[in-house]
Parts: sequence; C-alpha cells; structure tokens
Amino acid sequence: MTEVIDVYINGGFRKSEGTETIPVTNPATQEVLIEAPFVTMGEIDEAVAAAKTAFLEWRLVPSSERVRYMMNYQLLLKEHHDEIAEILAKETGKTFADAKGDVWRGIEVVEQACNIPSMMMGETSENVARGIDTYSLIQPLGVCVGITPFNFPAMIPLWMFPMAVACGNTFVLKPSEQDPMTPNKLIELFYEAGFPKDLVQLVHGGKEQVNALITHQDTRTISFVGSVAVGQHVYRLGTDHLKRVQCMAGAKNHMIIMPDADKAQVISALVGSSVGAAGQRCMAISVAVFVGDAQYWIPEVREAMSKVRPGAWDDEDAGYGPQISAAAKQRILGFIDAGKKEGAVCELDGSDCRVDGLPDGNFVGPTLFSDVTTDMSIYKEEIFGPVLVAVNADNLEEAIVIINDNPYGNGTSIFTASGGAARKFQSEIEVGQVGINIPIPVPLPFFSFTGWKNSFYGDQHAYGKQAVRFYTETKTITARWFSTESSEPVASNMTIELK
Ligand code: NAD
Repeated sequence: MTEVIDVYINGGFRKSEGTETIPVTNPATQEVLIEAPFVTMGEIDEAVAAAKTAFLEWRLVPSSERVRYMMNYQLLLKEHHDEIAEILAKETGKTFADAKGDVWRGIEVVEQACNIPSMMMGETSENVARGIDTYSLIQPLGVCVGITPFNFPAMIPLWMFPMAVACGNTFVLKPSEQDPMTPNKLIELFYEAGFPKDLVQLVHGGKEQVNALITHQDTRTISFVGSVAVGQHVYRLGTDHLKRVQCMAGAKNHMIIMPDADKAQVISALVGSSVGAAGQRCMAISVAVFVGDAQYWIPEVREAMSKVRPGAWDDEDAGYGPQISAAAKQRILGFIDAGKKEGAVCELDGSDCRVDGLPDGNFVGPTLFSDVTTDMSIYKEEIFGPVLVAVNADNLEEAIVIINDNPYGNGTSIFTASGGAARKFQSEIEVGQVGINIPIPVPLPFFSFTGWKNSFYGDQHAYGKQAVRFYTETKTITARWFSTESSEPVASNMTIELK
C-alpha cells in the first residue's frame, strides 16, 4: 500500500485520522508517489486550537527574536535548496531549472520577512493636544489561514506563512492536494530552524477542509491563491463570515508587440513566457497582441515555438514538463479543439505530443493560434497550458482597449522602443503588474504581488508591505501623563487650542 503523507497538527508530524486519500502522481509517468489524506473536521479543530494557543506566547516574542528564527530558516532553505527542488520537480513535473526558480522565489520572501522589525513600526505624533501624545502599535491578529494552488508549491506557501509568522501570528496551511510533498518539506525545515512548536499547522484536503478553515470561529485571515471560481467562493464565504480575505486568482495575460520593438527580444520573450512551465503560471503570457506590421513576425514566432520540446524534469534539454494531471491535459486539448472549430488558424498544434520513453506523461506540445478574436473561448478562458493565442490590433489605443475590456488583470507587458508608447501603456492599462520589455513582471518581495480585476479579490495583496498590513492590526494610543511633582495634569484638557 502506498504511504500516506503526514500532517503537522498539535505538536508534531503524524498520520491523519482521515480515511479518504487522493493519490499524488508523477505527471510524467503516472507513478503514484504518495497519498494525500483529507483530514477530519476534528483535526481541523485541533489544528486551529493548537495554533490559537501557540499565538498567546508567540505574540510576546520580540520581533528581533522572531527574525533570528527566520534567519535560521532562510539558511536551512538555502542549504536544502536543490533537495526541495528535486521533490518539487518529481511531483509537479517541472524541469529542474524551473523547480529551482520556484524554491528561490520563495526564499526571497523569507528574506523579506527578516525585515519585519522595521516594517512593523507604528507612527508617533507628539503633543497632539497640550501634554498629549498619539502613537500607533502594529499588532498581530491570531490564527491566519493559507490555501495554495498546485503550480508553485514552494513559492506560494512561502508568500504566506513566513510573513504571517514574522508579524507574530500563527498559521494553518492547506496546500494543494496535487503536490503536498514540497509544502511538507518546507514545514519540516521550518521546525528544524528552531521555531517553537505549533506556530504553523499543516493540514491536507480539499473543498470540505478549506470551507471548515474559512468558517472556523478562531481563524482571523484567509489567504487564497488559485482559480477564479474557487477564489470567488473563498472570498464570498470568508467575507460572509467576517474574515479578512485576500484571494489571488486566475489570469489571461497579454503582451503588446509594437512594430518598433526588437524582434529577436520579442520572439525569445514570447516563447519563454507562453510555454515555459507548461503554461502553468498565473503570470504566463497567453495572448500576444500584434500591433500593425508586427503581425508579420508570427511565422518566426511559430518557428521558435516549434523548437521547444517538453520532457522529464531531469532532461536538461527539455523546455518544460508535463501538465499537472491527465484531467488538466484533457481540458487543454478541449480548448485546442474548440479554437480550431471557432475558426482561429492553428499555426502550431501540440495536441498529439509524444515524449520518448514517457508514453503516459501528460504532455502537450507548444501550440499557437493566429487570427483569434475576442469572442472565441481560447481568448476568453484561462487555458493554463502551453498555448499562445495571437490577436491583431491596428494601433496602441486599440490594443489597450482589448486588454482593458478583458476581465482579468494579473499581468501584462509591452515590447517597444518608444518611451512615449510605454508611458501611455503603463498609465492607461487596467492591470496590476506591468512589464516594459519584460514579459513576466513579477515584483520582488519588497513590493507586493498586485493583480487586479478578476485576478484578485480583496484589498491588501500578497507579500511586501501590503502583507504586513494584511497580517496585522493597528492600535492607536492617545496618552496623557501627569506631573510627578503635583497631581495636576500636564495638560488641562484635550482641546487643541489654535493660537
Ligand atoms: P484551484 O482553485 O483548483 O485550487 C486552489 C486551492 O483551492 C487548492 O488548495 C484546492 O484544494 C482548493 N480548492 C479546490 N476546489 C475548491 C473548492 N471547490 N472549494 C474550496 N477549496 C477548493 O487552483 P489550482 O488548479 O491548484 O491552481 C491553478 C490556478 O491558480 C490558476 O487559475 C492560476 O491562474 C491560479 N494562480 C493564481 C496566482 C495569482 O497569484 N493570481 C498564482 C498561482 C496560481
């Protein structure tokens, strides 16, 4: 019988009492690597209760001490970097290079969490009235929850719990049931770094477990990353239960290609950002908007895409790996079929993709459609595969309108040699993360990850300063002290006298 992966609940790693499990497979071979349990409702209660108790002590630990634990964690993650990347590559199918990037981008957030003392400083105003001062304290909230998707099993959990814990909170993580081995390794190293027990609880499961965490009376915040449909559900359920909620959701990211752009740069950026990581990135470019004569570059884009081939995680020549599941592959093939039926031109068709030695892998080859219109399903839906669709626009204004009319707003980019075009684009585009001659503009963790429209529900975004606001509450103190020599107050009253 296949082993069932551990959970961390109330004091340590152990097996869940849940009897239902889901197989975690190597998507290149279908080999079952481990089973993920669906934890019981009793275990959810136990995890939240343990996190709540741990909070009582942890909130009193000075931020400079919390940072020392975090520094240990950063060192351990770096030491185990390749080991984590290998676990990640095997359960997601990502190439080793990609898997290492996933781990590294997460470590960068841990490094940012080490800045927490200066990020949690309040404000002070002396003498707001005679003898009276006002100042603010930034305090942690309690038990925070994280629900994460399959596509970045190291980076996305690390967007959440290090910042929450550095702020003085405790945390319950429910990672994707499709690749739980990487998050387990992250939490194992977290405790190896010396953090007190129970600061982070790790539970596995699906919809029922997520709903129980959201509606639990003792959870304070919900951080979610995943698809739009689930994100909307989590946001509605969470806010209905008066929780603080942030939901990073799906995307359809456009790249505008102006005819004055550097063609070689455009082609290289388009190929990497559309099929890289098998198109399973929320910041992948899935729509290329060719302005004017730039559309004549499409044959060269097709040529470059056709040279990329998917393969196994440890195949150094593979451009990317398989889709996460057979179901995900089938969904993508359905879109490719729909694109052909809807009248788009299929320039490059990856539906019948075979990889030597891996006949059962969920591979889809690079796929390119041209003459796509905005009413087609391949334009409207997030395909989340190595499929690029090309639309044409007569000028920059038209290209901007296309993007602004799209309901998603995660990322976008423009390739141009014109500062004026770039400036107009950055100012007018209704998308939260903008690249100028950069295809995937994911901000480093001292900024925040700022998707807009249907790509984000909430107001404070992930990591950076916005994460500190999300995981803390401001308390404002107004204080008056009396003179020690007499019982007279230093100030006679609170009225500010303007003279
Ligand atoms: P998903 O929505 O299927 O799952 C995300 C999480 O929600 C998982 O932990 C899953 O167990 C849980 N879940 C699934 N169905 C649920 C339900 N009905 N009720 C409650 N919880 C449920 O997403 P996925 O397929 O794992 O990830 C891919 C999606 O994530 C894509 O849409 C991608 O664009 C998005 N994504 C967004 C960002 C971002 O920052 N905006 C980053 C990465 C991925």
